[in-house]
Amino acid sequence: LLDQALARAQAAAPLNALVSLHPLAAEHAERVATRMDAGEVLPLAGLPIVVKDNINVTGTRTTCGSRILDRYVSPYTATAAQRLLDAGAVIVGKANMDEFAMGSSTESSASGPTLNPWDTGRVPGGSSGGSAAAVAAAVTAVALGSDTGGSVRQPAALCGVYGLKPTYGRVSRYGLVAYASSLDQIGPLAHRAEDLALLMNVIAGHDPRDATSLDAPPRFRAGTPDDLRGLRVGVIRESLGGNTAGVSRTLDGTLDALRGAGATVQEVSLPELKYAIAAYYLIAMPEASSNLARFDGMVYGHREPGADVTGSMTLTRERGFGREVQRRIMIGTYALSSGYYDAYYSRAMKVRRRLAESFAAAFAGVDVLVTPTSPFPAFRCGEKTSDPLAMYAADVDTVAINLAGLPALSVPMGFETVDGLDLPVGIQFIAPALDDERLVRLAGGLE
Ligand code: GLN
Repeated sequence: LLDQALARAQAAAPLNALVSLHPLAAEHAERVATRMDAGEVLPLAGLPIVVKDNINVTGTRTTCGSRILDRYVSPYTATAAQRLLDAGAVIVGKANMDEFAMGSSTESSASGPTLNPWDTGRVPGGSSGGSAAAVAAAVTAVALGSDTGGSVRQPAALCGVYGLKPTYGRVSRYGLVAYASSLDQIGPLAHRAEDLALLMNVIAGHDPRDATSLDAPPRFRAGTPDDLRGLRVGVIRESLGGNTAGVSRTLDGTLDALRGAGATVQEVSLPELKYAIAAYYLIAMPEASSNLARFDGMVYGHREPGADVTGSMTLTRERGFGREVQRRIMIGTYALSSGYYDAYYSRAMKVRRRLAESFAAAFAGVDVLVTPTSPFPAFRCGEKTSDPLAMYAADVDTVAINLAGLPALSVPMGFETVDGLDLPVGIQFIAPALDDERLVRLAGGLE
């Protein structure tokens, strides 16, 4: 299986989905074989997997798509990755990503952009675009990404695969390089609901090394059409406008399929949703500005010489961080500074609480909520790189879920034909906190 994955990785090299291969993968595969020979039953025996390059794995480079970490080799392994290894999975390599997971297109990586396997003139989405492209191109059947505002779900949608953002706290963040700690979650990408269930049963669960980790043992299974009968589905009204024709059609088709299987569909309104993007960026950027303070060339990775320590730190950060990361550090610092804190950060936190309350109220009447994952299918490479606000707007359907800490799953539900090519369209299902299992059952029922 490892040889097959490596051959596939080579064939898919032009996509630039992987930034490095795990130097110990072959050794690990041998070790799994030995464990199996000894009679050990391993839930992921020999399963090749790629993990996003912001997840630490001992002995691998963990660059986070940044020049500032270009030579950084992890001295320890993230809990989620360790659980994969313990379960017998073989980590083949590290997947490309937007620098420090800031972006929606995987174009801001210091390792160059990843291309969408469905149309190499288009982006795979981001920031976990390398993970999504690797799964879509069948380099591996499954991958791990991280989702702070949509970074698992949106690339999954644009690449035609499943992507799950778990309830905040269900998957340990220990060993995940922090972008915005109160929003970050690791999540799986796969070709089918059953594989999501397999992975979640391994990676989820309490971890004493993450103070926000929840004690909720995973009980995932892919459901059947029976799981859809009687399901109360709410369509979020505010997500119905601004979508391409193909996305609207795919949403309608999904609702028809749900009704056909015995679910009921009603419209639900979440008026605060229109503030979600603004609130998200006013929370994510301040957290990032604080989290990224540790990259000063003194402890991790790249260091530029300077006349003194301050000079070296300044030059390291100036040359090590790309434009988008620098922009976010500056905006984040500004929003947190005295005199502006109340106007920006603190107000964004109020919106965040109101949003969470609105979602909770909506779930009093429905079991799941549904929206498109993205208002459009994969866009062209370079189309949004010079316009940060247009790039941020790509997250309109996903960021609110992270603000509220909820689980959400993007399911590949259709295609939109653009310029004669079929581009995948994803539909997002949102569940109440800790009801992640419901999403995977539902996805199985739709297959
Ligand atoms: N695109 C969003 C951002 O740039 C989300 C990224 C993510 O989820 N890591 O912040």
